[in-house]
Amino acid sequence: MSIVVYLGDDAETRDWIALLAGLLPEFEIRDFDDPGDRAAVEYAVVWAPPAGGIARFPNLKAVVSIGAGVDHVLRDPDLPKHLPILRTTGPDMVQRLREYVALHVLAHHRDLAVTDAFQARAHWQQIVTPVAGGRRVGIMGMGQIARACARTLVSLGFDTAGWSRSGTSTEGVTPYAGPDGLPEFLARSEILVCLLPLTPETRDILNAATFARLPKGARLINAGRGGHLVEGDLLAALDSGQLAGATLDVFRTEPLPPDHPFWRHPSIRVTPHVASYIDPATGASVVAANIRSFQKTGTCEAIADPERGY
Ligand code: NDP
Repeated sequence: MSIVVYLGDDAETRDWIALLAGLLPEFEIRDFDDPGDRAAVEYAVVWAPPAGGIARFPNLKAVVSIGAGVDHVLRDPDLPKHLPILRTTGPDMVQRLREYVALHVLAHHRDLAVTDAFQARAHWQQIVTPVAGGRRVGIMGMGQIARACARTLVSLGFDTAGWSRSGTSTEGVTPYAGPDGLPEFLARSEILVCLLPLTPETRDILNAATFARLPKGARLINAGRGGHLVEGDLLAALDSGQLAGATLDVFRTEPLPPDHPFWRHPSIRVTPHVASYIDPATGASVVAANIRSFQKTGTCEAIADPERGY
């Protein structure tokens, strides 16, 4: 019985193969593109596998996503519908996102971009912003990662709300649920943080109608997926002043093309999909534990629901 690994980068794939071989000695660990006997492959551990690739392994028990999102697996039109998909998160991934969200919420809260522009002109001007308790932050998505980010913002004193399908929340965070709760949630969000999974329901959710419901001069941070954002609507909202700034970590096309208007827009900060990352050593131990649990019980806590898309 074997496991195949695909990361789209040979060196990274080799690292993961070596780590998983040490952790799961009962399996043969192979490169997705050099799998040996395809019928012996029971798990595919992947990030953004090529379309049709997973279907080439007839006896797979599950696909393991190297990442919290599973959109990069579900986008394959030939993905066998019956296959369970296991998500991978780890303490380092959650911690990095907490840092990213805190950093960029604080940067917007304290108008750092304006201060940077003043410095570029040697212009001395003090900007006084409210303390965090007077700043309303809204987080779209209240999953495992988003809840940890929300708790960090609460600990900094921000007036924090969370929006999810079911109204899931965490201590100190005002919950809003579903389409009915969205308008009120948006109306209070001076800084909107998107940490949703990309699903048919959430695709294009950061659009002109959403921006119009935010308080004038609101800010956007998108660390979910590029497919959440209607790019032209963001540019229009920044031009009109409805939005005052945006921090974007994820894009419809990655890497972001060099001639893309986001790179040089004075009100947009671009980060190259670095909000979080799974260290291979930590990630491999989470993957190994999930595979062991799935082998033993036929299920595992990290299982995603392909119907819901997350
Ligand atoms: P989870 O999958 O644990 O949770 C998803 C959350 O989104 C849940 O709260 C869910 O609601 C909510 N949700 C899903 N669909 C809808 C909808 N249609 N309307 C309202 N709420 C919805 O998410 P995680 O916190 O683990 O991760 C979230 C996402 O963050 C990932 O899918 C990925 O896209 C992104 N990410 C980005 C990274 C980066 O480096 N930029 C790194 C890691 C993750 P409910 O609670 O009711 O189920």
